[in-house]
Amino acid sequence: MNNLLTLVISAALVSGAATAPDTRPKVSLHSATKSEVAEDIDEQLIADIEECRTELDQLAQNNTLTMKSFDNLMKETLAAYHKEKSLSKEDVLTILDGVSFATKKHDGQTRKNAEKTPYISHPLGVAVHLMEIGKVRDVNTIVAALLHDTVEDTKTELAEIEKQFGSAVAGYVKEVSDNKSLPAQERKRLQVINASHKSAVAAQIKLADKLYNLNDLLNNPPSDWTPTRIDQYFQWAKSVVDRLPPSNENLELAVQDCIDSYWASQAPSSKK
Ligand code: ZN
Repeated sequence: MNNLLTLVISAALVSGAATAPDTRPKVSLHSATKSEVAEDIDEQLIADIEECRTELDQLAQNNTLTMKSFDNLMKETLAAYHKEKSLSKEDVLTILDGVSFATKKHDGQTRKNAEKTPYISHPLGVAVHLMEIGKVRDVNTIVAALLHDTVEDTKTELAEIEKQFGSAVAGYVKEVSDNKSLPAQERKRLQVINASHKSAVAAQIKLADKLYNLNDLLNNPPSDWTPTRIDQYFQWAKSVVDRLPPSNENLELAVQDCIDSYWASQAPSSKK
C-alpha cells in the first residue's frame, strides 16, 4: 500500500485493521450494495479505498499531485468518519463512488498548466479545500465538488448524475456548470451576474473552485498565459466571489488571502 495512505489509514483507524492483508475476494465498489455493509466494514472499506486508488493511479499515470490530493481527501474523509463521526460509512462509499465517476469521466483530460497535470487532480483538490479549509462535512456537497466539472467538460448528462447520486447532487452540479454552448467571454460575464443567486452549497463549491484555480495560476501557470491575462483572471475571479452569498467564512478568507497576496506580489514596491 502507498506509504502516505497507510499512515493516513493507520491514524484514522484505532483497530489497526488497516495493515492486515485482506485475503477475501475483492468486492467491486459498484457491485457491493450499501445495505450489505457489515460490522467488519473497516477491512472492506480499506479494500474499497485501495481499489479506488488503484483505478485513479492507473488513469492518472502515477501523477504525484493527483495521488496526493486523493490521499488528502481520504485523510479528511476517514477522520470525519472515525474520529468526528460526522460522516457515515455509506457517506465514505458515496465519496469513493464520486471519485471513481469523475476519474473515468475526466480520463485523458489535462489541466492547462505547463505540466499538463491530469484533470482529475482539480476536482479532487476542490473537494479537499472544502473539507480541509471549509470544514464541510455534507456528503452531497463533497460529491458535487468531485463532479462539478463533469457536465461542463465531459460527456455527462445531469440525468446520469441524478440517477447515481440523487437530485440534490445533480442540482448542485447544475448550479455550478456553465452553458458550454455560449462563447467563453459570455460565460465569464454570466458567472459574475449569476453569482448572487447561488445557493450556499453552490457558493462554497465555487469558492473552493476559484481558490484552486487561483493557486494553480500562481504556482503552475499555463505556459502561454501572459502576466496581463493572469491579472485579468484574478480581477474576474474577485468579481465573481465578491457577489456570492455568504456561505463559508474560512473559504471566503482563504480566497481573499490568495487574491491579496497576488496583488501584493504585483505591487511595484515588491519588485526588485
Ligand atoms: Zn472546476
